[in-house]
Amino acid sequence: MAEYEPVVGMECHAELLTASKMFCGCKNEFGGEPNTRCCPVCLGMPGSLPVMNKTAVEHVMRTALALNCRINSDAKFDRKNYFYPDLPKGYQISEYDFPIGVNGWLDIEVNGSTKRIHIRRVHLEEDTGKLFHVLGDESYVDLNRSGVPLMEIVTEFPPDIHSSEEAKAYLVKLRSILTFIGVCDGKMEEGSLRCEPNVSIRPIGSDTFGTKTEIKNLNSFRAVQRGIDYECVRQATVLERGERIAQETRGWNDAKQQTFSQRSKEVEQEYRYFPEPDLVPLEISDEWIERIRAAMPELPDARRARFETEYSLPVYDAAQLTESRALSDYFETAAKLCGDPKAAANWIMGDLARLLNAGGEEIAECSVSPEHLAEMIQLMTDGTISGKIAKVLIEEMYVTGAPPAQIVEAKGWRTIRDDGALATILEKVFADNPVIVADILERGLVKKRGFLVGQVMQATQGKADPKDINRLIDEKLTNQADPH
Ligand code: ADP
Ligand code: MG
Ligand code: ZN
Repeated sequence: MAEYEPVVGMECHAELLTASKMFCGCKNEFGGEPNTRCCPVCLGMPGSLPVMNKTAVEHVMRTALALNCRINSDAKFDRKNYFYPDLPKGYQISEYDFPIGVNGWLDIEVNGSTKRIHIRRVHLEEDTGKLFHVLGDESYVDLNRSGVPLMEIVTEFPPDIHSSEEAKAYLVKLRSILTFIGVCDGKMEEGSLRCEPNVSIRPIGSDTFGTKTEIKNLNSFRAVQRGIDYECVRQATVLERGERIAQETRGWNDAKQQTFSQRSKEVEQEYRYFPEPDLVPLEISDEWIERIRAAMPELPDARRARFETEYSLPVYDAAQLTESRALSDYFETAAKLCGDPKAAANWIMGDLARLLNAGGEEIAECSVSPEHLAEMIQLMTDGTISGKIAKVLIEEMYVTGAPPAQIVEAKGWRTIRDDGALATILEKVFADNPVIVADILERGLVKKRGFLVGQVMQATQGKADPKDINRLIDEKLTNQADPH
């Protein structure tokens, strides 16, 4: 089989975080009883008039700036005409030839090196409703989502992305930027961030482009990566058979981990775009742009660099902890409070990430507050609890949401600081394990001490300080070797 290179262009849609919809006062919120957040405007009733949502426009300006775009001062809205049951107006208000942002870029890190991904455009449009096809032959439409402000971000042609890893890194970075600047919640599983990769392949070394397919309905980073991989292999197989790639839109079957043909795209769709007559052009002034720029929060790259210098975090940790704003805020609060940034990073990326993952939760809804995590780390640092107990404690904190000190007292998890009590336990461990003790004292098998430490730990249910145990074992061994 010839060696092929993937070529990938990304089209991403982000639902914007605004109180109301794009052109009416209806609430912009995920879910809800179907068709309860609608009005004549978002239902597309004849004669109703759209009113522009300024926050949505500013969110797109913010995004354009964060993605290093030029902002079109003469941006305007256009009508994209097509019929679909989830689009009651028969057209979508979008931006065609003068989008808000153009010619931008973002940098991704893959395999330790930085790569610049160029962005062609960032534009503003409105979301459609949702169709539900019930088993049998019934279909329903929910128009709560109709008219929700939607931003589209498209990468440049010729594409910079040449592997599924790069595509994933692009999406991770984009999501992180969008959440940092607060324009989108980034929830892929709720459809707030949707991504459609355009995929083609070409023989390595070739500078022409193959026919592309577009993959729809990918709702996780994993699906994006798997979908692109699958598509590359499928296309190579088609080409090797001497056949042509059909230009088409393909869906993603997550259960089968396969793409499947949805509709052919052989002919360019004719949308009859024309300037939206019910809206004035945007007229974005330099003053407006500068006002948005001046209020721009810290971006992920800057925060990552700061985490490396200010908290001496390893590159890997700093990158992980800046994948979303909520995560990096969480880390920073905990790190400041406990005074041990690396410990905070370890707990967040380790035990806490595992618990959140298992519970299918985001850091923002985590029942362990950063304050409680910091308190827990301090309980370890000041010797109130052992590392072993901390592992159990965090699970308890995750389940109950209670403050760590309260749990420690209620469960009696304080480290035993009473040498007398420990000595009694030690006495029993020595008596129960004469062979081990003899191995150490008579055969010099010092490594077997670890077993005795483990036995004491077990007897105290992890509530002893290994330092104390080791000290007491040393004393006892010395005494037994030389009882005088
Ligand atoms: P469409 O109109 O079909 O959506 P666009 O021209 O808007 O296509 O391109 C969508 C995305 O696909 C862009 O990111 C673009 O760079 C990328 N793209 C265009 N041609 C190819 C190709 N042959 N292979 C892979 N990606 C492509
Ligand atoms: Mg497209
Ligand atoms: Zn409405």
